[in-house]
Amino acid sequence: MKKNIRNFDLEEIKEMVVGLGQPAFRAEQIFQWLYKKGVDDFFQMTDIPQDMRNYLSENFSVDFLKLVEKFVSQDGTKKFLFRLSDGNYIESVMIPEEDRITVCVSTQVGCKFGCVFCASGKIGFIRNLDVSEILGQILFIRFKENVRISNIVFMGMGEPFDNYDSVLKAIKIINEKNGLNIGARKITVSTAGIVPCIKKFSDFGKQVRLSISLHAPDDRTRSLLMPINNKYSVSELLNACKYYISHTGRRITFEYILIEDVNDTEKHLFQLIKIVKGLDADINVIPFSPVEGINFRCPDMEKISWFVAELKRHSIRATVRYSRGKDIKAACGQLAGRRFDVEKKNR
Ligand code: SF4
Repeated sequence: MKKNIRNFDLEEIKEMVVGLGQPAFRAEQIFQWLYKKGVDDFFQMTDIPQDMRNYLSENFSVDFLKLVEKFVSQDGTKKFLFRLSDGNYIESVMIPEEDRITVCVSTQVGCKFGCVFCASGKIGFIRNLDVSEILGQILFIRFKENVRISNIVFMGMGEPFDNYDSVLKAIKIINEKNGLNIGARKITVSTAGIVPCIKKFSDFGKQVRLSISLHAPDDRTRSLLMPINNKYSVSELLNACKYYISHTGRRITFEYILIEDVNDTEKHLFQLIKIVKGLDADINVIPFSPVEGINFRCPDMEKISWFVAELKRHSIRATVRYSRGKDIKAACGQLAGRRFDVEKKNR
């Protein structure tokens, strides 16, 4: 099978065109066709010499992802179910807000980390996405929905740092002037807490935002919710976060899915205040969204408001983030690549 050309960055394409005896600027022209104009056929690249277009089409593919189904929420959020060339499925979400359009991108088919509140974790790990499949989600939404995307969040299916090299390569292309040209500060990578990768990411050299799925302030509760905590404890995670903050000079965001009677008690709250106070960090409190087969509940409004108000009272920057697209199962933790539904329907 031919490799999708969107797996190659600008430098690699430059090397290839120069190797073919072409001037290096051809690489920028190709990049612009791929990312500014969104072509899915090399023969549409009209300023590229015919020989070169023949070579590209003989050796690479340039296909878009195949959309299987699009779901539209009452709140305007859209979820896209894509079928990959090997028959696996992934989901991506577009969240339109007043002043921005955010795309939530998947990085793996399934996930090996098994967080108990998460539908992707229930599937188990199937495989990593390649760079073209990561970018393909954004490009499909950019060109087929014809929208200007302002923000990218790596918070879809999979753990981005478990597919580290492809995710970072995709980020460089998203950020590249001749690529999607989206500012580094508008890109957020979210991790369940792979400590060595947080340290490595501190040297990435781009101002990409980092978000940590914390979800509990103590080892007992966190290990219950997120098995990765058995490998990297809360204190190791916090040390990595401190390293990131001091090394990059940037703030960090902690995500905290609030689950009734699991991590929303006074004890959890005060432990959370204790570990986060003084850190250059924000906390996003996310009321739990139901996931099929998972027996957790969302706390009531009063509890959510109390939890956030207490954080603020202790001078911690906290915000409630209500997940969008719950009615189409596009909210935080709900993405599962609903292949089984599709297969059932197609039978
Ligand atoms: S929350 Fe993230 S790391 Fe945890 S199972 Fe889901 S996709 Fe994987």
